[in-house]
Amino acid sequence: MAIQAAPHKFEAFRFNGQDYVPIGDWARANGLHCIWLKRGDELVATNRTTRLVFDVDSHYVEIDGVQVALSFPVANQNGVALVAQFDLDAAIRPLLFPSRYVKPAGIRTICLDPGHGGRDAGNHEGWHYEKIYTLALAGELRDQLRKAGFNVIQTRTRDTYVELPDRPALANQRGADLFVSLHFNATPTGKNEVEGPQTYCITPVGASSTDAQGEGSNHGPTPANRDEDESLLLAYQIQKSLVGNLGANDRGVRRARFAVLRDARMPAILIEGGYMTHPFEGRQIYSTAYRRRMAQAIVKGILAYQKLVLPPPPSVSRAINHHSTKAGNNSSAKHPPGERRQPSSNSAADAGF
Ligand SMILES: [Zn+2]
Repeated sequence: MAIQAAPHKFEAFRFNGQDYVPIGDWARANGLHCIWLKRGDELVATNRTTRLVFDVDSHYVEIDGVQVALSFPVANQNGVALVAQFDLDAAIRPLLFPSRYVKPAGIRTICLDPGHGGRDAGNHEGWHYEKIYTLALAGELRDQLRKAGFNVIQTRTRDTYVELPDRPALANQRGADLFVSLHFNATPTGKNEVEGPQTYCITPVGASSTDAQGEGSNHGPTPANRDEDESLLLAYQIQKSLVGNLGANDRGVRRARFAVLRDARMPAILIEGGYMTHPFEGRQIYSTAYRRRMAQAIVKGILAYQKLVLPPPPSVSRAINHHSTKAGNNSSAKHPPGERRQPSSNSAADAGF
């Protein structure tokens, strides 16, 4: 059954010190049809091209089959499913309406960052060291990206130690258009169960990280927050491609203020390509053929992102400007670090969608 919208404006709810919006109202305003799959527990919003699944109490929303971390849990107030306005702004709208929320940009140079190196071996499982496989994946990815026409630089090309702040600093100095950090994961418990890639982008200002592992615990702005919508879209496209093309378990798009992400002055993400500790996935990570497929999936994700951020041709650009609304976004309206878009009574609506 569809949730009935308030007739004129969305009813505001307040939970966890946050403004919450009825998902049904927001969905209707954006041309999505909303039904409970499991009453009171799981709400689905769909149109012809997009499917969102909201689970009550969950810190994730599923968007077209990929889990995307939220900063605040989905709530249910007397049968009305609610989502935080903060998450509509910071986690959902940049993915659903990239042409409105993401700055158009060309992509020429991509900085690859093979995790760890030298005295920092990263995770290890038996004789397998993470630093070896991140470098091997970076080499494969470099070759494929060059074939696709990109200029590629790397924070390391050998088994050398590179300080964390030096990695985004190199990307900044060399004017890279994207920063992609490569890692493999490990878990001390549940080794047979925990598997699959996860992709990180910077945590929005004022929110807690999905799992920061002690890094970047302060909630203030970082240079990377300037490009947080773009980083989210890049992380999402890559995670979607990894899961789809590798048939891997989806561990979602997550948020963290990792040192290698927070000082990047371009869209920046960190890929955890899978679990070395999983008996099957570990063996795949150690195989050249699987890493080649993983590199192909990452390239496809980057190309999908590139398509979404391509600057529009001049005639289209004029049309967009003509129809721009208060809710629409352009580069001059971009929020500086530390300043979220301010919610207003109707700010959840992307009128016209
Ligand atoms: Zn690592």
